Amino acid sequence: MAGMNRRNFLKTAGLTGMATGISMTAGMAHARSGGKVVVVGGGTGGATAARYLKHYGPDLDVTLITNEKTHYTCYFSNLVIGGVRSLDSIGHGYDGLRAAGVKVVYGTATGIDGDARQVHTAEGDRYGFDRCIVSPGIDFQWGAIDGYDEAATEAMPHAWKAGPGTTGLLRKQLEAMPDGGTVVIAPPPNPFRCPPGPYERTCLIANYLKENKPRSKVLVIDAKDAFSKQGLFEQAWGRFYDGMIEWLPAAETAGGVRAVDPGNMKVLTEFDEFDAAVANIIPPQKAGKIAQDSGLVDSSGWCPVMQATFESRVMENVHVIGDACIASPMPKSGYAASSQAKVAAAAVAAKLEGREPPRPSYVNTCYSFGRPDHAFSVAAVYRLEGRGDDANIGVVSSGLSPADAPDEFFEREVLYAESWYNNLVAEIFG
Ligand SMILES: Cc1cc2nc3c(=O)[nH]c(=O)nc-3n(C[C@H](O)[C@H](O)[C@H](O)COP(=O)(O)OP(=O)(O)OC[C@H]3O[C@@H](n4cnc5c(N)ncnc54)[C@H](O)[C@@H]3O)c2cc1C
Repeated sequence: MAGMNRRNFLKTAGLTGMATGISMTAGMAHARSGGKVVVVGGGTGGATAARYLKHYGPDLDVTLITNEKTHYTCYFSNLVIGGVRSLDSIGHGYDGLRAAGVKVVYGTATGIDGDARQVHTAEGDRYGFDRCIVSPGIDFQWGAIDGYDEAATEAMPHAWKAGPGTTGLLRKQLEAMPDGGTVVIAPPPNPFRCPPGPYERTCLIANYLKENKPRSKVLVIDAKDAFSKQGLFEQAWGRFYDGMIEWLPAAETAGGVRAVDPGNMKVLTEFDEFDAAVANIIPPQKAGKIAQDSGLVDSSGWCPVMQATFESRVMENVHVIGDACIASPMPKSGYAASSQAKVAAAAVAAKLEGREPPRPSYVNTCYSFGRPDHAFSVAAVYRLEGRGDDANIGVVSSGLSPADAPDEFFEREVLYAESWYNNLVAEIFG
């Protein structure tokens, strides 16, 4: 943490959060004029946006289009893979949103027409809007790793979108593998959903193997040379998993995994071929398909937005939030998606009322488990810097758990992590 200890950070974060609350409330007389808003995607970003639209504008007609009846959160899915939590415990339905006045529609959006102001669905329906908020999450760059296509995910799951066929499948493969086998994990290049996620997964898989299949190994073949919270993860690997984990940076493999052979469970780099008992291949990523199909992305594969309101730079009246949008320096995380959703919802409610959107600030907090009884976190507070369409998100302050803290500190972070999860999902789906 640059120039700030954790206590000061929390103080600053708290104050900034309060300041945010005050400016949002003061600037936000509830929108009373009505208007139609369609939200695409019922994950963290979309569901939060729908709920907050009804909060900021009780008279708004808000429709949420989602292609899942139960949304499984990716956060805490590594605990399911590690056998610490059940899959059911991370699944959430939409009754709470309905009770808050949101019209929840099951369907798959296939196109967003900015000129006609309509969302089209695979079911043949059209939903007109005054403004639309899109939060479709990520899609994968199939073919970036030779041999890794959608069919290959049966043998080598990515488990980077949570659910029974991904998270649940990887868990079953770990339970079925023999003692003495190698679990290969292939983290993707930047930018990608949840920068610390692959390394938390490495810890929790190693924890399961240590307790149940102690002759096994975890081999991490990375597409990068450095990663989020690296010092804290490497400390946990050294302290808890005595040589079970080997991490190969991109420099040692000339760029990570180049190809896979799912039929023979082989993972290939430029120089070597590895036999995997279980292979967790996490491919390079881009914005969710609907964003690609609707022309909301730029050449990076992600959606450029005006960071004050998350309105698209390429389609008027359409806002893109969450993992799909370009919101650097915010990471692609659930907490960031939720923060962006509130900013976008406030902006949409204000614009539909003919008012200037309030000036936002943003926050991110993310916990990772090194072991079920040992967690650590990163947190940051952001504000808008500059004015007009070119205003950008800048970091106000940030903090990381100190590596030299006593064990009780990391145990307490486990409790904070649990309450972080409970509060977040209660706010979104409760
Ligand atoms: C293993 C792992 C661990 C993680 N841990 C953390 C963590 O500890 N903390 C944290 O903050 N973040 C964490 N994350 C990241 C977090 O899950 C994402 O950043 C967050 O879910 C992003 O929200 P989103 O709304 O952009 O996408 P999502 O939550 O994925 O929501 C997208 C939704 O849109 C739906 N959808 C997509 N296309 C369509 C369409 N065409 N029509 C209708 N519906 C559609 C999808 O089915 C989905 O329900 C983790 C991620 C992973 C993979």
